[in-house]
Amino acid sequence: MQKQKLLINGERLKQELERFAEFGRTENNGVTRLSLSNEDIQARDYFRSCCEELGMTVTVDDLGCMYATLAGTEDKPPIVIGSHMDSVKKGGRFDGILGVVTGLEVVRTIIENQIKPCIPITIVNFTNEEGARFEPSMMASGVLSGKFDKSFMLQKRDPEGISFAEALKASGYEGDSNNRLKEATAFLELHIEQGPILEKESLTIGVVECVVGMACYEIEVTGDSNHAGTTPMRMRKDALFAANNLINEIRKRLGALDSELVFTIGRLNVYPCIHTVIPNKVVFTLEARHKDMQIVNTVKEIIQGLPDLGINEGCEVTTTKLWDRDTVWFAPELCDQLEQSAASLGCSHRRMVSGAGHDAQFIASYIPTAMLFVPSINGKSHSEDELTAWEDCEKGVNVILDTVLKLLFK
Ligand SMILES: [Zn+2]
Repeated sequence: MQKQKLLINGERLKQELERFAEFGRTENNGVTRLSLSNEDIQARDYFRSCCEELGMTVTVDDLGCMYATLAGTEDKPPIVIGSHMDSVKKGGRFDGILGVVTGLEVVRTIIENQIKPCIPITIVNFTNEEGARFEPSMMASGVLSGKFDKSFMLQKRDPEGISFAEALKASGYEGDSNNRLKEATAFLELHIEQGPILEKESLTIGVVECVVGMACYEIEVTGDSNHAGTTPMRMRKDALFAANNLINEIRKRLGALDSELVFTIGRLNVYPCIHTVIPNKVVFTLEARHKDMQIVNTVKEIIQGLPDLGINEGCEVTTTKLWDRDTVWFAPELCDQLEQSAASLGCSHRRMVSGAGHDAQFIASYIPTAMLFVPSINGKSHSEDELTAWEDCEKGVNVILDTVLKLLFK
């Protein structure tokens, strides 16, 4: 006979998510909980008290990341579950916090079923994932993984001029670098999808295989300014007409590469931007994302070849790479396990990629890591309209619980 599956308490999960939404709730039922703000500190204090009530030991590292650990019977590297508690301004009630509350609910379920884990279980809250108060995003996990320099990050200032170092000190959550996440059996992050795919396909669970690679360029077109009324068309070097040609070409060529490639011209500035003056300069950005780095590299070649296409209207075109990043692949054995857990719980699921960045992508560089997505209604996030069905949250946490149990007793 098949053993009955251990399941979480969906009602308790919902209440806990609602409880956390009170810290920084906006009038439209969203959340503003900027990193190390009063609202964030209240949420942290509450999280700490929940964990201590469960008999967990809470430590804090030198970046303010919190680790609540349920001891195991053996002294092994922990299974880590978590995400972030900070939000963007007028963000939603699920982004980040769902992954932290997942940890709480998994631990509560394990304790109330009198399971004695052999491996410790740690719930993590990474500081300043959103980068909404202090840029860049994923600041703490970036330092933990050695991608960012700590002293440089400490100097980052919010729009009010307060540095990250000052905010950390004032928050009471500046801990010890000895407490940093160093070694773990696994890191599991449950997150809302922040996109429309799962909902469109009527699926509940997305097993995230990777965070896609990307490249970001700035393209500058330089022409000549002159009087808009007196300069014949054939005597112009109009930077905006040239930029328009280039943008059309980018859309045509990149659009033909692969249906999964996404690309965006998110910023475009026209100079001098006066209606009676021919534009002498246009600067625009192009960023493109795909899991296959070969396709990302083809994008780079196309962008770098733009000046030579002969569609510049006599203008000069330069392309500058602002930054790029390689695709980060998650641990295949954890992805397999999450998929098996989803299937064994009867949850509809698919493999997918993450187009957005997450702490997990940095942690994956030194700890076996995987991510799970649950659907975002209308694909919305970073907005007060962000919503995920309670049942989907519950199913996602059940998949994480099942995988944790498999890791504990394999
Ligand atoms: Zn997030």
